[in-house]
Order: sequence, then structure tokens, then C-alpha cells
Amino acid sequence: MGKLRIGVFKFTSCSGCQLSMLRVNEQLLNLLNLIDIDYWVMVSDVKGKGPYDLALVEGSVSTPEEIGEIKEIRSRSRILVALGDCATYGGLNSIRNYMSQREVEKLVYENPTSIRSTTVRPLDYYVDVDIYLSGCPPDTSTIVEVIKDVALGVPPRLPKYPVCVECKLSENECLLIKGEPCMGPVIKAGCGALCPNLGRICEGCYGPAVDPNAESLLDKWREIGLSEREIVCKLRKYAGLSKEFKRWSGL
Ligand code: SF4
Ligand code: SF4
Ligand code: SF4
Repeated sequence: MGKLRIGVFKFTSCSGCQLSMLRVNEQLLNLLNLIDIDYWVMVSDVKGKGPYDLALVEGSVSTPEEIGEIKEIRSRSRILVALGDCATYGGLNSIRNYMSQREVEKLVYENPTSIRSTTVRPLDYYVDVDIYLSGCPPDTSTIVEVIKDVALGVPPRLPKYPVCVECKLSENECLLIKGEPCMGPVIKAGCGALCPNLGRICEGCYGPAVDPNAESLLDKWREIGLSEREIVCKLRKYAGLSKEFKRWSGL
């Protein structure tokens, strides 16, 4: 089995997903047996032009330049992974879509005249994506497992069930039943129920589970006392552009 030639790319993002990749620690040597890094600005001066067996792309698309860049990377990549929520759903960046473009630019930049931003979009708005690795950021071990799966030529086995399954396996007392607005029932597992394990509600950072029953959870939140505005904000936070939450998030 030959090594995978990989490229890691950053679009509009905080670099947290790349940092999660870098936390491989003791798994690093195993990983380096599988990959050759052809392009990864964060770790290497080598700036290869591919073609890549595997491109891991962090961030959403939010400038005219990025639209061209993601199409270019796609054309040079056999398998393209959307790394993290920004790439998969638009992520936290997509919150800006709920305000006018000019209004946001003025808030962030002293002199926004040279800024040319576009509506925030996930990668698959412009190109085909082969693997979605959601999370804000995705878990390090899961990223490594996906790279190994690609090297072996098998489809990644990412969970489709909700966080509640992992939460129950950890034998946590349910926060939703206690009256806290946990998102666990509609959010994809994979984090090991990190937040409920620490006594905190799931805020939804892994994005929607497959076929979530959001309607039922929303009724529960209303019963707890959440306003319609609070509900919309929760659904918008990480994955408001997703097909599963779009209906309620208002875009
Ligand atoms: S998904 Fe989260 S951690 Fe990753 S780049 Fe976006 S904001 Fe940062
Ligand atoms: S605490 Fe949240 S994640 Fe855990 S079982 Fe209850 S609703 Fe699900
Ligand atoms: S429990 Fe929810 S918010 Fe916390 S890490 Fe997991 S998916 Fe993200």
C-alpha cells in the first residue's frame, strides 16, 4: 500500500480543526507511515500542487477568491474531506448570513471598502464532497481513523445516531429531563457526549444526526420555557444552513 499524498487547506475558519489534527501525539508516527504531506501550510514549507489522494479542507467559503480556490482544489483531489462544521455546514461563520453583508463588514473592519465577502456557504454548495467530518472541531482520533480508512480504501464508519446514545452509555443523568435545553437528541454522536459528561448541555457542535426529530425536541424546549427567538438562535449556531435545521433557522 503506497502512502497517501495529502493536502490540508484553510478557508474561512479559526484553524481549530487543523489544531485538532495536530493533537495526534503518540499516533503521529503511525500516521506518518500512511501519508506524505504535499501541502499543509501550518506544518510544512513544502507547497506541492498535487494531485492529492486526500484533501482535508477546513473552513467555509466566504469570498469570491475562495470560490475559485475550492474548485481548483477539487479538480486536483481524488477524495475531498470537509473538515469540521465550517466546511460541512458553514459553521459559526454562517451566523453572519442573518445580517446584511455591509452591516457585518462595518462591524468588523474600520475601513470595509476593500472587503469583498460573499454569503457564507459550506464546501458542497460549490463542489462535491466525499466525506463529511463534522465537529467544532472534530475529535482528533476520528480524523486519524478517517485517514486510515481512506488509506485502506474502506468507507469511514462515522456515527449516525445522536449524542444521547453516547450519553446513556456514560450513564449520565439526563439534563433535558431536569429542564435544561440540551440538543443531544438531534445532534450527531462522535464526541463521546463530552459536554453532558461534564454536567453541561450539548450545544450542537457536531451538527444534525441523521433524520433528527427536531419537531419533538422543539416542543420540549417550549415546555421548558425557551422563546421562539432562543430556539432559532440555538439551531442557527453551528448548522443553521443544514437541510435538517434550515426549516427552523430562518434561511
Ligand atoms: S469548525 Fe469550529 S474549530 Fe473548525 S475552523 Fe470552524 S470554528 Fe474553528
Ligand atoms: S443529557 Fe442531553 S445528551 Fe444526555 S440523554 Fe439527556 S438530552 Fe441526551
Ligand atoms: S456534547 Fe454536543 S456540544 Fe458538546 S462536544 Fe459533543 S456535540 Fe459538541
